[in-house]
Amino acid sequence: MKDLLCLGIESTAHTFGAGIVSEDGKIYSDSRDVYIPVIGRGIHPTEAAQHHNIVAPRVILDAFRKADLKPGMIDIIAYSCGPGLGPCLRVGATIARALSTYLCKPLVPVNHAIAHIEIASLNTGAKDPLTVLVSGGHTAIVAYAAGRWRIYGETEDITLGNLLDMFAREVGLPLPGGPEVERLAEMGKIFIDLPYTVKGNDVAYSGLLSAALRKYRDGVDLTDLCFSLQEVAFAMIAEATERSLAHTEKKELLLSGGVAANKRLQGMLESIAREHNVKFYCVDKSLSGDSGVQIAWNGILAYRCGLRIDVEKSLVKSRWRLDQVDIPWRS
Ligand code: AMP
Ligand code: MG
Repeated sequence: MKDLLCLGIESTAHTFGAGIVSEDGKIYSDSRDVYIPVIGRGIHPTEAAQHHNIVAPRVILDAFRKADLKPGMIDIIAYSCGPGLGPCLRVGATIARALSTYLCKPLVPVNHAIAHIEIASLNTGAKDPLTVLVSGGHTAIVAYAAGRWRIYGETEDITLGNLLDMFAREVGLPLPGGPEVERLAEMGKIFIDLPYTVKGNDVAYSGLLSAALRKYRDGVDLTDLCFSLQEVAFAMIAEATERSLAHTEKKELLLSGGVAANKRLQGMLESIAREHNVKFYCVDKSLSGDSGVQIAWNGILAYRCGLRIDVEKSLVKSRWRLDQVDIPWRS
């Protein structure tokens, strides 16, 4: 029998993506188009949804063209069901429903956060890691136990990706802010004192954001501020990660999500892993940010366990937490 092929559709926030993946984990194609707000503004949900509407046909056709496959050759349609921005999620879900109905293929709902973790696991070969998921939508330290991903630490307010993006936006840097802050941080020389907030095993970043912006308005050098912002923000999540490693006694540490592309964050977590004699894995940059590929791969894992949804019931769940999802494929 031939391997199953899944088309994954991603539309939770800034990215509209379509990816095709086979059952053996081969990535046939990865097509994306990212909505980038004008400098000084954040993501506007209806504008982002409009962007997705416009680019969707081209992105999906491009995914089939790159894969050299015809739509009828796909076995499963998976879509990002949540969490995310309602208007954006609905664009992807509507397209997935239409394709599923037209092609007579099963429809599989996927939790976007779990898809980040699963694609990182596939990409790195990590089997049972403590996972740090850091992106625009998530900041969580999780490990799999008894049927679900359990949260060992998370942000109490904004995400790490938000912190970097909002800081960048306010100081006039283009979005996404993470790569810009990283680039300027490399030129920073002086460490500026900023608030470090770890509560129990959770982090909180909004005070750090306000303080960094205050320093900027006071005229502190931007490269020094970017350097210090990274040092403080990353050390906070690293501290919580180290405690979670000690607690869970996992033998692998996996860094996933869009912010995983950051070299300084990778370095900090790698050194913690080394100290604890734990193997460190980091998802490749090509698969760290939002993509249809992560949805397609998670779609395959779920479908093989019998998960699918009737088109009539395939609503989106904008607040679908990752610890609410049963994970039969890992048990
Ligand atoms: P995602 O939501 O998973 O697509 O991740 C997007 C987030 O990753 C945004 O907040 C970006 O600013 C952030 N990001 C991307 N590249 C980097 C980087 N090199 N350093 C820090 N953050 C990054
Ligand atoms: Mg994401």
